[in-house]
Amino acid sequence: MPATGFASSEPFDHEKLEAAAIRYPRPSRLAVALELSGPKASRAAAALGLHTVGDLLEHLPRDRREARTITQLVPGESATIVVEVRRITSRSVRRRGMRPLVEATVADETGRIKATFFNQPWLVGRYPAGTRLVLHGSLNARRRFNVQDHARTGGSAAGNGSVAHYSTTEGLTSSELLALVRRHAGGLANVLEPLPAAVRATERLPDRPAALAFAHFGSGDGAARRRLAFEELLLLQLALLRRRALRRDTSAAPVIDSERALTARWLSEKLPFPLTNDQARALEAIDHDISSSRPMQRLLMGEVGSGKTVVALYAMLRAVEHGMQAAMMAPTETLAEQHFRTIQSLLPHELMAIGLLTGSTPARRREDLLSKLETREMSLVVGTHALIEDPVRFASLAVAVVDEQHRFGVRQRAALDAKAPGDSSPHVLHMTATPIPRTLALSQYGDLDFTVLRELPRGRRPVETFVCSTERERARAYDRIRAELRAGRQAFVVCPLVEESELLQARAATAEFERLSAEEFRDFTVVLLHGQMRPGAKQQAMGAFASGAADVLVATSVIEVGIDVPNATVMLVEDADRYGISQLHQLRGRIGRGAHSSLCLLFGPREAPRLRALRSTADGFRLAEVDLELRGEGELVGTRQHGLAELRFAELPADAQLLERARMYAQRIESDDPELQLPEHALLADALRGRYGAEALAPIRA
Ligand code: ADP
Ligand code: MG
Repeated sequence: MPATGFASSEPFDHEKLEAAAIRYPRPSRLAVALELSGPKASRAAAALGLHTVGDLLEHLPRDRREARTITQLVPGESATIVVEVRRITSRSVRRRGMRPLVEATVADETGRIKATFFNQPWLVGRYPAGTRLVLHGSLNARRRFNVQDHARTGGSAAGNGSVAHYSTTEGLTSSELLALVRRHAGGLANVLEPLPAAVRATERLPDRPAALAFAHFGSGDGAARRRLAFEELLLLQLALLRRRALRRDTSAAPVIDSERALTARWLSEKLPFPLTNDQARALEAIDHDISSSRPMQRLLMGEVGSGKTVVALYAMLRAVEHGMQAAMMAPTETLAEQHFRTIQSLLPHELMAIGLLTGSTPARRREDLLSKLETREMSLVVGTHALIEDPVRFASLAVAVVDEQHRFGVRQRAALDAKAPGDSSPHVLHMTATPIPRTLALSQYGDLDFTVLRELPRGRRPVETFVCSTERERARAYDRIRAELRAGRQAFVVCPLVEESELLQARAATAEFERLSAEEFRDFTVVLLHGQMRPGAKQQAMGAFASGAADVLVATSVIEVGIDVPNATVMLVEDADRYGISQLHQLRGRIGRGAHSSLCLLFGPREAPRLRALRSTADGFRLAEVDLELRGEGELVGTRQHGLAELRFAELPADAQLLERARMYAQRIESDDPELQLPEHALLADALRGRYGAEALAPIRA
């Protein structure tokens, strides 16, 4: 197994990469050791990794605290103010636990206020009248500002409305760090510039020193932030493209080209339906990829039900008809079994045998299967991690499909690569059912080619979606639901999300169940489903609904997963605006699966942006984009777990264009100077190694 998985396609594991990071080489002035006021501060600085002036200047603020003016202060709320000391005195009042107090009258252009410093009598000498200070603390009920954190500041930081806020540790406050940075600001002139001059000129970007000054002091304009964002996006894209190139160039995959006897027959005779246009395009892309000896690295994105399995099976059959083997790996046994069944149903038995290998495959069957894989008697296998265990040997693995690919680690995918004979790699098709917008895809999976299945296979019916805001609309909604029920259809009623407590949520669902059984749907059979029920009771409720014995299923969001009842044509969601866009989209996916047209009724404020989005489109990718726009990248559910590279300056999707520019330059650099050996790329190479570790540039061949 290759020791480093850098060549496999893993969304960035930032912790690992940051841990591997080495620092920029610094010219001497930046290498000067930091001098701090006392041993406590020195220890704190060392704990933060701040040993030199260079370290300090590279220690960028975590965020910025909006500075408030004195008139904007609200009692009880923490806030940062930038003020000038007018008067300062030590009060030797020694009541209340003997706390020595320093009281200062401080002012900004909007007013003045009394500030209290606890336990630091020496501040009287350090902050004489006229000193400018950044204070962080809160106003108490008597309109005194209790100071938690303070430091001297230079010019008018209040002018730009925010103050840098650093990650700190005991013994060194954020304001003290800012003051320290100010003292060493002269060192900024020595900071190296990793961006090639030509790129900076074309993009009109300020140099790195100016941009760092902006990060610390907030001086300069938006161009400085843009510059730092561009740098981080460029480095990210370079690392992704490099990783992709390393896998591609250091191993070859078998060329799968002319032979089509099997797939041609399968497509025309055995596949029980015509392909959607998106599926057809995906097959073309795969054909193109596998006809080259460069290993395929394609990500197939399509929601549940979009027909990914057909596409994956095609890629696998292409290997088989060339006398080679193919494997599909899924993260759980349930998924593997599901794929196995789908593939069996899509693949008439006389075509070939296909194996299933999971942790619970009985020993005898497993042995038989392993020997058949080794002799090539079996050419198609579906399984879990069990597929990449040591004893598994393939005679000629040529195509590998990885489902829910983000759930596998670097090593696991490298292990799958290693199952191909000799030094070769298999062509890999990754699959994911989570729709993500292009901006995120680029930053997360920039080392893969993308194919999207947007169009749902025929037979799926569009769902009409309404937002109901008034009591009249509610009454009409129940009328419509009763009409559907009388016509023999079924309905879901989803109760409000109660994030804080499953118990409360269960109670609310129970109450709604009782109300609907007694009132709106008293002529029908209503069942209840929530997370607090015993497994047997859940099964019973689901069974009753699935068999059609129950007309209405009142549920908490547990139905998001798992239920397939084509006869259900209505979904009513209470307090729908409490749910996230993707959750609502998933919920709505439970209907529109049968022959009848379906109806989704979202109860909530008409103007709620999420509900408007749901009403306007059924496209999961479009909805993911809206979600991103509404919430910003940091909030997007799931992205963190997926290992999305954390961006400190760039903001997606706002910086989508900047990302595209960075991608373009990265591609250009990657093709002109892949190993960054030209002199104008030397500092860029350092920066890349600094951020992503030495393996960002090294070939991975052992
Ligand atoms: P996914 O893996 O993307 O969730 P599947 O490949 O399992 O989706 O397909 C979902 C269902 O749709 C399966 O029953 C499959 O047989 C069917 N299906 C796939 N492609 C088509 C198509 N082009 N036309 C009709 N049905 C299709
Ligand atoms: Mg599937």
